[in-house]
Formats: sequence, C-alpha cells, structure tokens
Amino acid sequence: MTGGRRGTVLALSGGVGGAKLALGLVHALAAEGAPAADLLVLANTGDDFEHLGLHISPDIDTLLYALSGRDDAQRGWGRADETWHFMAALRELGGQDWFQLGDRDLALHVERTRRLRAGETLSEVTGAVSAKFGIDARVLAMTDDPVRTRVECAQGWMGFQEWFVGARCEPVVRSLDFAGAQAARPNPHAMEALADPGLRAVIICPSNPLLSIGPILAMPALREALAACRAPVVAVSPIIAGQAVRGPTVKLMGELGLPATAAGVAQGYAGLIGGYVLDEADAHAAAALPHLATVALPTLMTTLQDRIHVAGAALALADRMAVGRVEA
Ligand code: GDP
Ligand code: CA
Repeated sequence: MTGGRRGTVLALSGGVGGAKLALGLVHALAAEGAPAADLLVLANTGDDFEHLGLHISPDIDTLLYALSGRDDAQRGWGRADETWHFMAALRELGGQDWFQLGDRDLALHVERTRRLRAGETLSEVTGAVSAKFGIDARVLAMTDDPVRTRVECAQGWMGFQEWFVGARCEPVVRSLDFAGAQAARPNPHAMEALADPGLRAVIICPSNPLLSIGPILAMPALREALAACRAPVVAVSPIIAGQAVRGPTVKLMGELGLPATAAGVAQGYAGLIGGYVLDEADAHAAAALPHLATVALPTLMTTLQDRIHVAGAALALADRMAVGRVEA
C-alpha cells in the first residue's frame, strides 16, 4: 500500500477496540513509508483510578501492550505470558482482589505510580514507557489532569471500575459523568495536531463511544478544536450487526436512550465527523447517514491483516474526503 497523503494522523482511542485499530494504523502507515511518529494515539484516561495505592491507566496500558506486541490476544486484556502470584498472595491475605493485576502488569503500575509521586506527569511517564517498549507511534494521555468517569445507577453514583469490573457492568446506568473533564487541559500535542494545516486525518477508533471517546470529547477545548478541524474526521463503528464485539457498548447505549446501532454511533458524533467506516453487515445504515462519506467492509479485527485492512480503509476514506472525491 503506497501513495497515501502525508501528514499527522490523530487517532482517538479507548482500550481494546481502539488498540486493535491503532495497531492497524501503525502497519498501514509503515507500508506507505510514513514515519511512525506521524501517528498520534490520544488515549482515554477517564477509566484511570487508584487501586492498592497504585495509579492504573487501563486504556493507556492496553495501547502500550498492544502496540509493543506485549498484549494477551486470547484474554483480550493485560499482558501476554502473565503470571498471577501477586493476586494469589493478596487473596491469601484477605486483600482487595476484585481487580485482577498480573505480576508483569503490576510492574507498570508500580513504576508509573513511583514516577508520578516523584513529580512526572502522566504524559511523561507514558512517553518513557513507550520508549522502553520500543513504540515509535506517539501514545498520548488525553490530559494530565484527573478526569474520572462515574456511573449513576439506582443505588447512586459508582466509580467506573467499581461498575465495570466490580459489578460486571450489571447495574442499569441512568447517566454518566466525567468528573474533571470541564477543567481538564487537553494534551497539547493533540491540540497542536488539530490546529495544524498539515494534519492528514483524525480517526475515531471503534471504541465505546460513551465510555472511551466520551471522556475525550467532554473536554470542551478538544471538542471545539475537533469540530473546527479542517482535516477529514472519520469514525470506525464499534458495532457490527447491532452487536458490540465485546463489552457494554450496546447495553449502555440502550440504557441511556440512544439507538444502539451503527447509525446511532455515527449520529452521536454529529457535527464532528465527515466520514464513517461501518461493517458490511450494517451497510444499509449508510442510507440513514446521507451527510457522511461512508464505506462498508468487514470490520471484525481478528488477525493483524484485518486490523491493517480496516485501518487502511479509514485512511483511504479520509484521503478521498480531503481531495473532495467522495460523493456525500
Ligand atoms: P475498552 O476501553 O477496553 O473497553 O475498549 P474500547 O472502548 O476501545 O473498545 C470497546 C469497543 O470495541 C466495543 O464496543 C467493541 O464492540 C469494539 N470492538 C472490539 N473489537 C472490535 C473489532 O474487531 N471490530 C470492531 N468494529 N469493533 C470492535
Ligand atoms: Ca477503557
């Protein structure tokens, strides 16, 4: 694959779904001969929390593991070749064992927490770990300020991980809050990219639109910059044939009164996106989105080739939008 436009590509990402496409983008850009640093992956930090005295950044970690080939493809989260001695020992002590921390994974949380306490920012720590892991793409924390996703259920407000992991997403959700997002200063590299006339594309990964992309867009300055950005903005649907590949996307959209369909996801991004990649099983939904440039293809990313194929399609759609050759 050669001949794409040049310039920075900014991807907005959560964890697992986002990281799959981000890895595809790394390879698709490399195949074009683009420098690896052309890819900026802006990661959700709304899922971040303190646990056992450690600062855990689940979506950043998923990206760091996936982009460096350290992820566990079978389990779908955490590190490959993981061992669980720490958890077993913690359980023996009667400690808090509701959140799984593998031994290798634990090292990242300990080291991140140490560096944060020594005064480094989350961005600095993320950059340092990326370098150690040999990642050439730029993984960026969406902000260095605390943003915490909270979930309102019948029993009241819960921390995100308390709901997601502790309660296995079971309590019905009435509303979401991204505490701190209004005042959070978005990552300056992402803001620079959005203002740069040389920006090639913004790709919204097939991440949970409410829980993973929602916190990024809840930062007012970032949302405004995205809406004003002159480069093509393309989202990739996380919904295939009306189902999420995994996770609570469909449940949550339904509970919050949004149509839990590929078209519903695109409508949620109204005013921000000009292009949409959806699964061939949802191709009919394009008719409901006449204002968007769309492309339908198989979007289930099982193999690396699948990831590269979907990423290439998103880039190609953005490039066609940029030269104005796509019929709306
Ligand atoms: P999390 O932060 O780990 O929950 O991950 P994300 O928010 O980044 O991704 C979750 C979303 O990814 C879910 O809505 C899934 O449907 C979607 N997803 C996961 N794998 C795939 C895939 O192979 N293709 C597509 N199109 N979506 C996927
Ligand atoms: Ca997440």
